[in-house]
Amino acid sequence: MAIKRTLQQWSVEDSTELYGIRNWGAGYFGVSPEGDVVIYPSGENKGVAVSVPEVIRGMRERGYDMPVLLRIENILDSQITLLHESFRKAIASLGYKGEYRGVFPIKVNQQQHTVEKIAQFGSRFHHGLEVGSKAELISAISQLKDPEACLICNGYKDEEFIDLGLSAVRMGFKCIFVMEMPGELELILERSAALGVRPLLGVRVKLITKGSGHWAGSCGERSAFGLTTAQVVDIVDTLKQHDMLDCLQLLHYHLGSQVPNIRDIRTAVMESTRVYAGLVQEGAKMGYLDLGGGLAVDYDGSHTNYVSSRNYSMDEYCTDVVEAVMTILDQQGIEHPHIVTESGRATVAYYSILLFNILDVSIAETGESIPDVLPEDVPEPVVNLREVLQGLSVRNLQECYNDAVYYRDEMRQLFITGRVTLRQRTLADKYFWAIINRIAEEKEKLKHTPKELADIDSTLADIYYGNFSVFQSLPDAWAIDQLFPVMPVHRLTEFPSRKAVISDITCDSDGRIDKFIDPQGMRTSLDLHPLVDGDEYYLGVFLVGAYQETLGDLHNLLGDTNVVSIRISEDGSYQFVREIRGDSVADILDYVEYDPRRILEDLREAAERAVREKRITPSERYKILQTFEDGLRGYTYFER
Ligand SMILES: *Cc1c(COP(=O)(O)O)cnc(C)c1O
Repeated sequence: MAIKRTLQQWSVEDSTELYGIRNWGAGYFGVSPEGDVVIYPSGENKGVAVSVPEVIRGMRERGYDMPVLLRIENILDSQITLLHESFRKAIASLGYKGEYRGVFPIKVNQQQHTVEKIAQFGSRFHHGLEVGSKAELISAISQLKDPEACLICNGYKDEEFIDLGLSAVRMGFKCIFVMEMPGELELILERSAALGVRPLLGVRVKLITKGSGHWAGSCGERSAFGLTTAQVVDIVDTLKQHDMLDCLQLLHYHLGSQVPNIRDIRTAVMESTRVYAGLVQEGAKMGYLDLGGGLAVDYDGSHTNYVSSRNYSMDEYCTDVVEAVMTILDQQGIEHPHIVTESGRATVAYYSILLFNILDVSIAETGESIPDVLPEDVPEPVVNLREVLQGLSVRNLQECYNDAVYYRDEMRQLFITGRVTLRQRTLADKYFWAIINRIAEEKEKLKHTPKELADIDSTLADIYYGNFSVFQSLPDAWAIDQLFPVMPVHRLTEFPSRKAVISDITCDSDGRIDKFIDPQGMRTSLDLHPLVDGDEYYLGVFLVGAYQETLGDLHNLLGDTNVVSIRISEDGSYQFVREIRGDSVADILDYVEYDPRRILEDLREAAERAVREKRITPSERYKILQTFEDGLRGYTYFER
């Protein structure tokens, strides 16, 4: 339950706790004494801090309207460093003989700037890339500069894909084909012979182990991807026949993304290490064990095995993985391989924040304006509602709730059949909401709240209209109910007195955020501040760097948002290093097969017709067309 405090007693510390920023922020986000959300570029809640509202001011001065996706490059750098440092520590303390080689799966954030920066920040650790298609492979080859880094090719590969990969090997890239289907090998052998390049090969194995969570379907015996152990053995035989067993160097599996439970991770590592050992015993060269993705992000900060959390830290993940591999291989006297992981989500999630402003608020019904004296001609149900209100106490809340719903429905029925007036019906509604509000207050005194009464809170939430599109910017919040931390980025010295849900500007009933993180699981409203006339109110949705950018769709033809990347220096100053304008209206119309030039042509004709019909003058025509041209150039979101 929210902390009951008044305006005067409320502090920054209360806000920090209420929004759980220390639990999910991983040390990258905090609250300043002035009540602003701040970014700590190197994590651990220390060092220089940059105020988010100040960055917003800077963006607005440069002409960037909300919504904006803000990327903080330093966080990307810090996360890659953290991943490698954690593995390095585990490897050193356990005495493991192989090395850690991370790769970033491009599908998690394909934006050029992101991939470029990962290649750049990762080069000192030989951090590589993972691709699943020809387009991703070409983008990876263009960004990766380090011949030591792995370039892992998953996905189904046609001849062109294979030729691209073999050319990469030729050019000195450590480009490894991971076979996902039995048929792939034949084509790879054929193309290798034709081009005279010895391929680097891996196999993706289907494990029996299943992860829990949203994406558990990517593994298990029935999963669509990977080879059964029988198929793997067939591949070994074929390679033996061709005298190419030395080409087989990597074993891969992928348990699915966001695996919340460390036990599943450990079980999968053990199972795959057994397969790895078997391949070594079969005479394959091997050398790389690729554990895929799955390293989860603690979106709700609960540190549990709930789907939007994880019950382990990065250090525990690394230690468990290294230890499991080592224990099994040592038993069989097999050399330790390099460990590869394909962590996407954990690498990029923290690095982006979606920022938007609130355009308007629809205040929940308060039922405050009921009259002291009832008018004379009121219908029976109104009199009954008034009695319910007067007799309400903590002992009869459920009964009062049932009665209130009954009389309100009776009144609606009378209205539909034309027996009461609009005004009479409105009066009944006011009583109804007065009762609901009283129940909401009184139920706080109950030890156990019946479900029906608990749900009242969400009906009493205000609706805050945010200048963004859930479909475009938070597709997973819409498609799979993923929770992201959402909070105001300023005014955190003030008591957030309103309970709210957030609606986007698509006017689609699915275009809303009405489930929020909570240490106990989930809550159905968010505490927000009342709007102040003339002042903008800014919210941030955090941890949106993974998977949200390219899955988005053009619902209501709202397009890509503006994207601004900042780099923070050691002295706390920061620069805008990359700015990408969001889609204009013309861009969006182009995506759905309109030709913006043709549109202007059609508009010009319509305007000329209006001139001929003397509806407008030629100079009005000029102004109107000017308006249309500006409109086509403009941002697809609400502009002030
Ligand atoms: C999606 C995917 C990943 C990324 O998983 P995360 O959980 O985001 O780290 C890694 N490998 C493969 C094969 C994938 O399909």
